[in-house]
Amino acid sequence: MADLPDKRTAFMDWYLEVVEASELTDKRYPVKGLNVWTPYGLRARRNLDAVMVREIEATGSRAVEFPALIPATEFAKEKEHIKGFDAQVYWVTKGGTSDLDVPLVLRPTSETAMYPVFALWVRSHRDLPLNVYQIVNTFRYETKTTRPFLRVREIHFFEEHTCQADEAAATERVASNREAFRRMADAFGLPYLAVRRPEWDKFPGAFYSIALDIPVGEGRTLQIGSIHHYRENFARPYGIRYEAADGSQRFVHQTTFGLSERLLGAILAVHGDSKGAVFPTAIAPHEVVIVPIPAAAASASPAEVAADVADRLRRHGVRVHLDDGEERPGAKYYRWELAGVPLRLEIGRREAEGRTATAVDRLGAKGPIALDRLESEVAERLAAFDRALRSRADEAFRSAFSVARSLAELAGSTTVRLVAWCGSEACGRAVESALDGALLGTPEDPLPFEAGTAGPCLGCGARESVRWALAARPL
Ligand code: ZN
Repeated sequence: MADLPDKRTAFMDWYLEVVEASELTDKRYPVKGLNVWTPYGLRARRNLDAVMVREIEATGSRAVEFPALIPATEFAKEKEHIKGFDAQVYWVTKGGTSDLDVPLVLRPTSETAMYPVFALWVRSHRDLPLNVYQIVNTFRYETKTTRPFLRVREIHFFEEHTCQADEAAATERVASNREAFRRMADAFGLPYLAVRRPEWDKFPGAFYSIALDIPVGEGRTLQIGSIHHYRENFARPYGIRYEAADGSQRFVHQTTFGLSERLLGAILAVHGDSKGAVFPTAIAPHEVVIVPIPAAAASASPAEVAADVADRLRRHGVRVHLDDGEERPGAKYYRWELAGVPLRLEIGRREAEGRTATAVDRLGAKGPIALDRLESEVAERLAAFDRALRSRADEAFRSAFSVARSLAELAGSTTVRLVAWCGSEACGRAVESALDGALLGTPEDPLPFEAGTAGPCLGCGARESVRWALAARPL
C-alpha cells in the first residue's frame, strides 16, 4: 500500500483517503453529498450518539422526534431565519401527481417544525423549562464541494431546543450546554474553543451564537457545533407564551444546541496520523482487535486462546473484534491501524503457551499482558491510550495559535491568529480581507496560552474596549 498523503501539507487529500481506506462511508451513492453509512462507520456514529445522549440527558433534556416535513407557511414565520436558509432547502411540492396546496420544506433544522407545537405545549410557568432534543437527519442543499462528514447534504443532526422563563434562565441553559459539550469533548479527547460569533455571522434569527471551533492545521478551523440564545425572536412569531406566577402573559426565551456527524470528521481530523484513523475508545467501533498468529506445533492453540480472550473481554463489555481471517498477521495489523482501533492483542505460540498476549496500542505503546489479569490490564491500557491521545491532541492544539500584531502579518497565516479587535464590523472585515478568511469571534474559554492584554485594535488602532478575537480560514 502506498503511503497516505501528508496530513499537514495536504490535509484534505489525507482526510479523504483515511475516510475511504478505513471504510467508514461509501460515497458512491448516485447523489452527491448523500453518503452511505457502512457497518464500521455506523458503529462509530452510534457510539458518538451514545455519548451525546448520555451527556444531554444528564442535564434533564428528553428525547423527542418531530416530522421531517415542514409546511412553507410555518417555515416563513421568522424573517431572518428564512432569509438564512432560503437558498439551502429542498422543497416537496407534489403529492403523487398533484401539486400540494401548501408546499413542504424538508427540514434543514427544526425550529419551524417544533415551535408551532411548543406553542401548544407551553401554557403555564409550570411547563417550563421545556428541554427537548432529537437526533435526526436534516437536509441542506449544499453548493460547495461536499466532503464525507464535514460537508454533506443529508446531515445526521443532534439538536436541542429549549424554552425558558426569561433571558437569564436561557443564559443559564447556554452555560449548561457548554458544560455538557465539555464532557462530550473530554470523552472524544478533543480540545476546542467556544467562540462568540460576530453579529454578521450568527445563526439566522439568533440573539447571539456561540460556536465550538477546533483548529485543523495550517491556520484552518472547523466548526463542530453551536449553541444559540434566541431571546424572544422565535417565541413572538410562533406565539410561545406562558402565564407567569403573577398571572401575566410572557413570551419564553429559547435556546438551541446543535451538533452533527461533523464531530466524527473532527475526531478523524484531530487524532488521525500518518498511519490512518485513530479513534478514542469512546467512539471506536472496535476498542480491541485480537489477531491470532497460527503456529503448527504449539502445545496451546493460538486460535483457541484468542477466541477465549475475545469471549472474556466481550462478556466484560469491551467492544472486541477477533480477526481470524486468512490474511497474513502483518496485513491485519496494517488494516486495523489504518482503521484506528485503539488496542491490538497479538496471540502467537509464545503467548498461547505462556498465557499472555502482546498488546500494541494505536500510538505504538507495546508490552505483554498476563491473561490472568486480562480484563483489568486491557482496561488500564485503553485508559492509558486515551490519556496519551488527549495529550498529543492538546499539544497540537496549543501550537495551532499565534498572535498577529498587524493586518500585514495576517496574509498566508499557517496558524489560527489571535487579533486585537475593537468589536466594530469594519475592523472585523478588515481582518477578514487581510487574512482571506473569517473573524471567528471572541473566545469564551481561556486561551490555550498566555497572550497578555489585547490592543491596539488591528483595524483602527483603538485602545479602549479591545478584546482578543480569533481569525482563521474555516474549512
Ligand atoms: Zn477597530
